[in-house]
Amino acid sequence: MDIRSVGVVGAGQMGNGIAHVFALAGYDVILTDVNEAALSNAVATIDRNIERQVSRGKVTADDKAAAMARITTTLKLAEVGPCDLIIEAATERETVKQAIFDDLLPHLKPHTILTSNTSSISITRLASRTDRPEKFMGFHFMNPVPVMQLVELIRGIATDQETWDAMHAVVRKLGKTAASAEDFPAFIVNRILMPMINEAVYTLYEGVGSVKSIDESMKLGANHPMGPLELADFIGLDTCLAIMNVLHDGLADTKYRPCPLLTKYVEAGWLGRKTQRGFYDYRGETPVPTR
Ligand code: NAD
Repeated sequence: MDIRSVGVVGAGQMGNGIAHVFALAGYDVILTDVNEAALSNAVATIDRNIERQVSRGKVTADDKAAAMARITTTLKLAEVGPCDLIIEAATERETVKQAIFDDLLPHLKPHTILTSNTSSISITRLASRTDRPEKFMGFHFMNPVPVMQLVELIRGIATDQETWDAMHAVVRKLGKTAASAEDFPAFIVNRILMPMINEAVYTLYEGVGSVKSIDESMKLGANHPMGPLELADFIGLDTCLAIMNVLHDGLADTKYRPCPLLTKYVEAGWLGRKTQRGFYDYRGETPVPTR
């Protein structure tokens, strides 16, 4: 299956990273979002991030120019329909993702492969609403996409072997490594990572430690490169809460109960780095703990 054109739906932190790595690998990329500012910010971010790779000697200036020329943006979802591969990377809410796939269906080519970058939502359920569950997969990139080596490939119950093999080949062409996961809530990485982050928030909520002491403990005591609360801010607290809710609902086990303090931060609109405030306040020169 020859994949040349890639449509990316959602131009947030994941969408811009996905567009970046596909354009550098030689694919034509169309990036779409409902928010015009998200599209212009995404292009500026990609430009800045590839420039950093140029200054480190990882990419040539010619490669950068070619990659930037391969990226187009549009506010019209229908324009990504004819791509060979579509990667949905919009907000982690099932109704949002379902509406995107519903709206895309009339514009797809027969061979188009549909994928979702969802961190936790059932691939089988998203696929079942489309006209091609056999050509539907989970395609889960890690944040930040240009830096992280892993891509989780998630097989829905109906995903066929041809689609599975085609996505493995794409991951190889991107120079990344695939891990195969079955379609159960939050797959592998977030099934393990999110309960740890949620437990860190409980540790804060119960007064066992401050933001600083929790993060330092896990960095210096468990050799984690980032503390769990710093990492939660980086991922986005809305995304963390959405994943915990999927684990809680999908596995029906109280051990996945989202911490009320995580819910409170999200209700406050303190979503982490992307809103400049979460467990840390990022508005000054250096991040300051908010608790
Ligand atoms: P984000 O909030 O940075 O970006 C989401 C983007 O989707 C926004 O620009 C928003 O305008 C856009 N959007 C919302 N509704 C849309 C629609 N109907 N059509 C087109 N665009 C729409 O979120 P993000 O962190 O980039 O997460 C996106 C997806 O990637 C989620 O499914 C998330 O679970 C997953 N993911 C996130 C991370 C992470 O660390 N943040 C890691 C892996 C996967």
